[in-house]
Amino acid sequence: MNPSEGSYRGRLAPSPTGYLHLGHARTFWTAQQRARANQGTLILRNDDLDGARCRPEFVAAMLEDMRWFGLAWEEGPDCGGPHGPYAQSARHEIYRHALEQLRAGNFIYPCTCSRKDIQAASRAPHAAEDDEPIYPGTCRHRTMAVAGQRYSWRFRVPDGEVIGFKDVNLGPQQFVAGRDFGDFIVWRHDDVPAYQLACAVDDAAMGITEVVRGADLLMSTARQLLLYRALGLNPPGFYHCKLLLDETGKRLAKRHDALSLRALRQAGKSPELLR
Ligand code: GLU
Ligand code: ZN
Repeated sequence: MNPSEGSYRGRLAPSPTGYLHLGHARTFWTAQQRARANQGTLILRNDDLDGARCRPEFVAAMLEDMRWFGLAWEEGPDCGGPHGPYAQSARHEIYRHALEQLRAGNFIYPCTCSRKDIQAASRAPHAAEDDEPIYPGTCRHRTMAVAGQRYSWRFRVPDGEVIGFKDVNLGPQQFVAGRDFGDFIVWRHDDVPAYQLACAVDDAAMGITEVVRGADLLMSTARQLLLYRALGLNPPGFYHCKLLLDETGKRLAKRHDALSLRALRQAGKSPELLR
């Protein structure tokens, strides 16, 4: 037997901020197929970082809809496993430790700018959400927090450096730090870790060998590669799926209620048909 056989570890990482739709199902189905094809293990992680937007009823619905669709996992919040806890809301200490490491390495700085991207930082910047203007660097010089002022922690990107990786599905990818994306939030001023940090830290801590996600997160992958390097972690492989678009060419989103797995099930559609 090939010694690497069975060592593949993939993950499904939904955020319980609404009902899952066909776009999620398609990415998750691909993730499951990748894991099966590699005799691997599939992990379910509940990405419930943002307490203000995540709700317990969505967690229950998420598990139910995923099972209905035909997804199965070997480790997760419902079945446990050696790399738990499997809900991000229970992993703050792990993120805090990573934050300290970034701080010790002088990779981050306290930023007092109050922009809406700080609120948005805990969710993955899907599609059009990722066209934020490059952060102008107002606080880049700061090394210490200003007494009495609220601040977030921002990662200082290496301006001009080409961040390249070979995507398993889409081939070679390249982004230029400081041009395609700028300094990004790793920790919100209200003490919530940002998606980019939590995701990279968890994928590494859970021993994920390949991340399957939508192509709208390609630039987040580039950001996360910088975090892996700064934290001295080994990055996984990446498989980005092409996006499902609606009839007007827009990415499917939670606003397409009719395409939620719930609605499709209620309309009598079978998982086989949807796949
Ligand atoms: N929880 C994130 C989301 O729902 C995960 C994205 C990723 O695959 O990294 O978009
Ligand atoms: Zn700032």
